[in-house]
Amino acid sequence: MKKTDYIIVGDGYAAMFFAHRLITAGKDFLLFSEGKKSASQISAGVINPVVLKKFTTFWKAQEQIDNLKTALTDMEAYLGKNFFVNEPVHRIFHDENEKALWQKKSQTVELKPFISNDFKTFNGVNNPFGTGEVLQSARLDVTNFFSKMFDYLSQKNHLVKEKFDYSQLYPKEGMYREIGFNKIIFAEGMGVKENPYFGTIEVQPNKGHNIRVALSKDFSIKETLKKKHFLFPLGDLHYYGGTYDRGQIHTDIDENAISQLENGLREFYPYNFEIVEKNTAFRPTVKDRRPILGRHSEHENLSVFNGLGARGVLNGNYFSEILYRHIEYGEPLPAEVDLQRFQA
Ligand SMILES: Cc1cc2nc3c(=O)[nH]c(=O)nc-3n(C[C@H](O)[C@H](O)[C@H](O)COP(=O)(O)OP(=O)(O)OC[C@H]3O[C@@H](n4cnc5c(N)ncnc54)[C@H](O)[C@@H]3O)c2cc1C
Repeated sequence: MKKTDYIIVGDGYAAMFFAHRLITAGKDFLLFSEGKKSASQISAGVINPVVLKKFTTFWKAQEQIDNLKTALTDMEAYLGKNFFVNEPVHRIFHDENEKALWQKKSQTVELKPFISNDFKTFNGVNNPFGTGEVLQSARLDVTNFFSKMFDYLSQKNHLVKEKFDYSQLYPKEGMYREIGFNKIIFAEGMGVKENPYFGTIEVQPNKGHNIRVALSKDFSIKETLKKKHFLFPLGDLHYYGGTYDRGQIHTDIDENAISQLENGLREFYPYNFEIVEKNTAFRPTVKDRRPILGRHSEHENLSVFNGLGARGVLNGNYFSEILYRHIEYGEPLPAEVDLQRFQA
């Protein structure tokens, strides 16, 4: 019989960053991947401490950024590369009022570390009111991050390329099929709805689309530009996205969302472009905008890691460590992210 410390179910940011904690700690584990293109894999990978609609920041933004930089540096030791792309986000202002608000916010204690009042104008795009830089923002090289992580997990025999079958799980016996385990981390994104142990957790799907576009005119801007959505270079193409839609649950590409993206891009890119690829997936969101972490009330060896929302990279990394320390060392979970907060 095979015996392992951990089983991880899922292969998005939640699963991969939890796997990183196990790799660092020298734990044995198996990670189940059903081979679908997850929300994580189609995400923009933008690392951003500012809410760019309201010009506010969020809980533990600075700690999350610092922790992510450390984790990606640590991952370099076994992946051979650091996937942190040090190109900041520039918010294109809609009008003078927005620019004035940005300026005002840049003087507040909360936003000063994250908002520059040194405005910049880019050539080749419409930005008559200029742009504001989000300090400490960056991107993750998403495609290569996942590709290298999968290669590494496969080489080390951690990767199981199949859907985890809940009917074959015996938590009391600590058995999954013929595999003995100490703990399981369920990190299935919206797939959690099929999970008989955690299927009722309060995550809601928020459907997102992105497009990959070929721009007709040479475009050498390496920074991420953001007006309605994010635009940045990705190989020979550009990534543009993503949309938000809470209403839809079908998995097909929605042409209305694609039109929104086309119109959004046309607002500041004045030349032709061709859509080369369209993608869609569901963000697992929570109404209080905080992840959901914790152990099952009856089966202590089962834990959930979900609800990363629109900030999969920062939340996935930061809270993987919190969950790991909770499980391994009994450190209490912050009440804000504890699964128990929904159980009145
Ligand atoms: C268009 C778009 C753009 C985004 N841009 C950003 C961004 O710029 N920055 C950012 O930080 N976040 C971004 N996000 C949000 C981010 O993608 C999500 O927060 C994140 O993907 C959630 O990660 P997860 O691991 O919880 O879930 P997922 O990424 O959905 O991964 C869960 C995986 O588990 C697998 N799975 C489920 N059940 C099983 C099973 N039984 N057996 C085996 N495998 C299973 C699924 O197939 C899936 O691949 C974006 C999302 C979208 C849709």
